[in-house]
Amino acid sequence: MTGPACPPPRPAWAEIDLAAIGHNVAVLRRAAAPAAVWAVVKADGYGHGAVPVARAAIDAGAEGLCVALVEEAAVLRRAGIDAPILVLAEPPPHQYGDIVRAQARAVVYTERAIDGLAAAARTPLLVHLKIDTGMHRVGAPPADAVTLARRIASRPSLLLDGVMTHLAVADEPADPYTGRQLDAFDTVLDALRAEGIEPPLVHAANSAAALGHRRARYGFVRAGIAVYGIVPGPGVAHLSTELRPALSLRARVSFVKRVGAGERISYGLRHRFTADTTVATLPLGYADGVPRRLSATGGEVLIGGRRRPIVGVVTMDQLMVDCGDDVVAPGDEAVLIGSQGAEAVTAAEWAARLDTIAYEVTCGISARVPRVYVDGRGDSHR
Ligand SMILES: *Cc1c(COP(=O)(O)O)cnc(C)c1O
Repeated sequence: MTGPACPPPRPAWAEIDLAAIGHNVAVLRRAAAPAAVWAVVKADGYGHGAVPVARAAIDAGAEGLCVALVEEAAVLRRAGIDAPILVLAEPPPHQYGDIVRAQARAVVYTERAIDGLAAAARTPLLVHLKIDTGMHRVGAPPADAVTLARRIASRPSLLLDGVMTHLAVADEPADPYTGRQLDAFDTVLDALRAEGIEPPLVHAANSAAALGHRRARYGFVRAGIAVYGIVPGPGVAHLSTELRPALSLRARVSFVKRVGAGERISYGLRHRFTADTTVATLPLGYADGVPRRLSATGGEVLIGGRRRPIVGVVTMDQLMVDCGDDVVAPGDEAVLIGSQGAEAVTAAEWAARLDTIAYEVTCGISARVPRVYVDGRGDSHR
């Protein structure tokens, strides 16, 4: 799929292992079967790159793709991807024409969108009716489902392709709230069936539900985070052991010096060295998605196969690492997320230090960081 990785234009890069994406899709397909897997590639594939991830996921048997925005669907189409694409939220009215042109499937939950999309579509546009069963983000109230489904059916330019809902606490399998959401969803499906409305696609599960809630799987699962090899949350970690992280964040040491005991470092001089030490500088900072506070919250970097603390606040373009008395030279590879030798730092570790979730970590790796695609980590080191 990709040849040997080209040297990136700057010595800091995110390496994406497309073989890991394929592996994770295969793991999810086994876990979700007989339900199919649609890969969620919104937010530029959770920071991994939507187009290469989409291709790898489809090659591995994903039957469709999900995105958040109409423009994200258009990017996939421009890249020549012809798989089914579902836009997960109602587009704003000025994008009704765009979603039709992108030949994407639309999620709807209001009369306004149903009527507007019906007016914009020439050949039948496939729509999925979204029901809010308790997440309370977007979706129609369960009581409105039949009325909205009938409204869709009455429009010759629309085809009701699916009914869906979204789960709020699927990553906490013991929480009975998921069961209550699915009960509400099943009640809606029954009510539609009683009206003779049986859309071909029914779906509710995100990654966590795909792994942890058998009854949430229905026709297909909308798997995002697990496709990238990241555990959706601690509560389903025991179900995610086969997943392989696809992304690593790497940089080459740009500068090395000795700093004396008693000296302080970086803006605000917040860190004081208690002994003479070797400090390596990495050409990566908060503008690249390494949060400024990662040092204060115990963040570590791998250099020479060992964990080493980030010292001083992370600056916009650079950060510093305490290497003790070890020999470190400019050009040495440092790993911020990923493995080196026997050690590994995961996006989940960053998330725990930063009081967030791994999703925010990988989505936060900015566009300034080149993405380098490899097919299997193996010998792809440069
Ligand atoms: C983002 C999203 C998903 C994917 O969730 P993961 O936890 O990443 O698997 C599924 N469905 C909807 C509606 C989403 O917005």
